Amino acid sequence: MCIVGGGFTGLWTAIHLKQADPSLDVVLIEAGVCGGQGSGRNGGFVMTAWSKFGTLKKICGTQDARSYARTVQQAVSDIGSFCEVNGIDGNFHQGGWLWTATNRAQVDAWKYTVDELAAAGEHPYELLDPAEVAARSGSASHVAGIFEAAPATIHPGRLVRGLAEHARKLGVTVLEGTAMTELGGSPAPVVTTARGSIRADKVVLSISAWATAIAEIRRSLVVIASDVIATDPVPERLDAIGWGVGLSISDSRRLVNYYRTTDDGRVVFGKGGGGLALGSRITSSFNTSPDAAEQVRAQFTRTYPMLCDVPITRHWRGAVDYSATGLPFAGPLARQPQILVAAGFSGNGVGPSYVAGTALADMVLGREVGRLPESLRRPRGGRMPPEPVRYLAGRVVREAVRRKEAAEDLGRTPGRLLAGVASLDPTGFTDRGNS
Ligand SMILES: Cc1cc2nc3c(=O)[nH]c(=O)nc-3n(C[C@H](O)[C@H](O)[C@H](O)COP(=O)(O)OP(=O)(O)OC[C@H]3O[C@@H](n4cnc5c(N)ncnc54)[C@H](O)[C@@H]3O)c2cc1C
Repeated sequence: MCIVGGGFTGLWTAIHLKQADPSLDVVLIEAGVCGGQGSGRNGGFVMTAWSKFGTLKKICGTQDARSYARTVQQAVSDIGSFCEVNGIDGNFHQGGWLWTATNRAQVDAWKYTVDELAAAGEHPYELLDPAEVAARSGSASHVAGIFEAAPATIHPGRLVRGLAEHARKLGVTVLEGTAMTELGGSPAPVVTTARGSIRADKVVLSISAWATAIAEIRRSLVVIASDVIATDPVPERLDAIGWGVGLSISDSRRLVNYYRTTDDGRVVFGKGGGGLALGSRITSSFNTSPDAAEQVRAQFTRTYPMLCDVPITRHWRGAVDYSATGLPFAGPLARQPQILVAAGFSGNGVGPSYVAGTALADMVLGREVGRLPESLRRPRGGRMPPEPVRYLAGRVVREAVRRKEAAEDLGRTPGRLLAGVASLDPTGFTDRGNS
């Protein structure tokens, strides 16, 4: 059996497969190094799926939505336990998530989700008063918010490299620097690389944004850059403002700001919606962008003005695989069921990739797939326009969102046309609600 892609999705699939059947021959090929893309570059938020409950309910029905969201919540703890049991130093801290507003327009962005959850009898969030939000986040820029206890933070690079090492110990053949150049063969798939071919009874494609190369998937995903900066270590300054390790925070923009601290006292601050891929081609412009980093720095200093003098020592970016619904999918291709694909994590993949990996392993082994509802085994929610319309329209919509959110930061109400165009944005870190 062959897995293509050595991020969290591919590695969890490989590990779950070997745990279930140690005799299975599992080869994992990775074009670069394991974790070299999103899995090693992300913000390190290990989130649940409750913030997408409204969409989940529409797509899966209340029962499956609840069961999937509970499974992802359990996955957060399972990742922590896995690290502990297997001696992986992934800096796992289960300190919760603050979903906040950093201007008046964002207040109550969570109301839709909280109401949907309450109607289903679920209460994962605690409504905090504004003083408490400011105290926990370390900045009065946060004017409102709710808190969820289950999410965690990790050091993504340490975790993903730890998983790759663990997979090797379990007997998985991990071939880095080995790109799949062609996928053919029928009924048994054949994966071609520059070093030779692999014939396998089943192939799992855990290639995230690169899944847009698959005709059946192409119109279900849009690839957008996310940008991250990291500061110098300033543990005493973070102590002084009361921002502890393990708490992840985001605001309620469509071009979301997300931030956390690290074990050595840095701030890692990221921003979604950085740039689109023309024809879904992920070029070197998806590795770094000094201009985008400057925009992220401006958001950081707006949110934490008391840290504006702290040097920014690193910046990077990566490709995010947004689906039309903001929900991931994992399952067989309709045209060739021996090939399974998982993608669409939409900026929340660290926790859900654990669930996708377990489900893919069950599918490969022909077992009952308990953890992933039927509705999340294929892309849902309509098709993105073809290129170049997708790229051009995407740029217009993204610029409208940027201008709308800039106006809201200044306390202005954006014009109806601007708000209307901005509302066409299908991407988002949380459910749409009133935002
Ligand atoms: C900047 C950034 C910040 C993010 N922040 C968060 C966050 O804080 N929390 C969160 O939950 N999620 C976040 N995400 C998303 C998250 O990182 C991913 O959803 C998650 O890591 C799952 O990744 P994956 O394994 O599906 O994909 P990836 O980690 O992208 O792995 C796919 C792999 O496939 C390989 N590949 C592609 N094509 C081929 C080929 N032809 N042959 C061989 N290999 C190939 C790539 O090299 C890559 O290593 C972020 C993503 C980015 C880019």
